[in-house]
Amino acid sequence: MVAVDTQQMFELDLTKPEPLPESARDRAHELMGSGRLFRYTELAPGELSDAAQLEVKFAELLGRSYAVAVNSCGAALFLALRSAGVRPGDPVLVNAYTLAPVPGAIEHAGATPVLVEVTANCVIDLDDLAAKACVSGAKALLLSHMRGHISNMDEVVRLCDEQGITLIEDCAHTLGAGWNGKSTGTFGRAACFSLQTFKHINSGEGGVIVTDDAELAAKAILFSGSYMLYGQHGARPPESVFESLRGRIPNYSLRITALAAALALPQLDLLPARIERMNRSYRQIETRLRGIPLVVVIERDPLEDYVGSSLQFRVPSLLPEQMQAFLHMCRERGLGLKWFGETRTEGFTSRPSSWEYLTDTQLVPRSEEMLACLFDMRIPPAMTDQHCHQAATVIEEALTALLSINDATYQ
Ligand SMILES: *Cc1c(COP(=O)(O)O)cnc(C)c1O
Repeated sequence: MVAVDTQQMFELDLTKPEPLPESARDRAHELMGSGRLFRYTELAPGELSDAAQLEVKFAELLGRSYAVAVNSCGAALFLALRSAGVRPGDPVLVNAYTLAPVPGAIEHAGATPVLVEVTANCVIDLDDLAAKACVSGAKALLLSHMRGHISNMDEVVRLCDEQGITLIEDCAHTLGAGWNGKSTGTFGRAACFSLQTFKHINSGEGGVIVTDDAELAAKAILFSGSYMLYGQHGARPPESVFESLRGRIPNYSLRITALAAALALPQLDLLPARIERMNRSYRQIETRLRGIPLVVVIERDPLEDYVGSSLQFRVPSLLPEQMQAFLHMCRERGLGLKWFGETRTEGFTSRPSSWEYLTDTQLVPRSEEMLACLFDMRIPPAMTDQHCHQAATVIEEALTALLSINDATYQ
């Protein structure tokens, strides 16, 4: 018999970002023509810079009093911690499933990350959170809604209130998401968003802090490097708050550029349609994955109003070398999955055992076990129903092929 190659191919390059909308490109051109790329510039009376407009829009979108745009979400997290009063040497709780810039931000503030276990469904383990809060005496929690997975925020907030813990939310993947009808980024004392290319808004690099706390906002503005031009900020606290901080806040030069703000602004209006499209793809692939015997999908709480900009699933019954083979087979067919179980972390994967700079060894065995079999797929807005079908079929065929190799070996 002649072997016919009927293998499904996946025909979308997941590493490729979307082109920017025309409106963003036009504004960028205009700005470049003016040379005013620094966010602080001579303004006409009543004129708002692009950065200030972005701040106003973010504050409005989240229903918070203040927003501060900076150069990245990692910097925003650092500034939020620093401005919330976290001091060098302080323990800071953080869920073990997160991206490298998150423990990095804690380290940047001179504080010590205290790793909290996550569940098999990628959210913070509330029992471990209570236990670690007690043992460490930490007065801050940096909760990362990693890859868009939202913990039970009612429980997290209750626990933080009970223990006097300041909650800072990492919303790098949850712009447009919510819990029980309330937006993520409105539960903590402050929240940080990312404008980096692979998040929900692409300005290359950028981050935004939102808060209702006037002193925190003013400190973040001054720390970010506003010189005495803080008056040009969009959603900012009153002058008196800045006056009271005069001379006490070092300038860390972590400003957003006017260009990044200009690129981000028009994209905010496109977000609802993009979210609808990504969620449709997410649900289609998830439904198909539920039908594949070896795959364990990540269950979402019905109260979680997620944005499906990426999808995770576990294949716990495979051996590590089989996971490697599975990854390879998918990649051969054009589907670039990521795997959190690589011995050496690659690309945007990250896990606690790779943060070797942490001074005290902190074991989070349940999180490590979960991450060892966790796969990850980007879901860009460009993904069509046809692509969803292709992706699920590639995954299914690769696992079926792996199993038949298994059967042949063990018979
Ligand atoms: C990307 C990301 C960050 C950091 O964002 P940058 O803007 O790249 O600094 C933080 N947390 C999570 C969960 C992320 O995915």
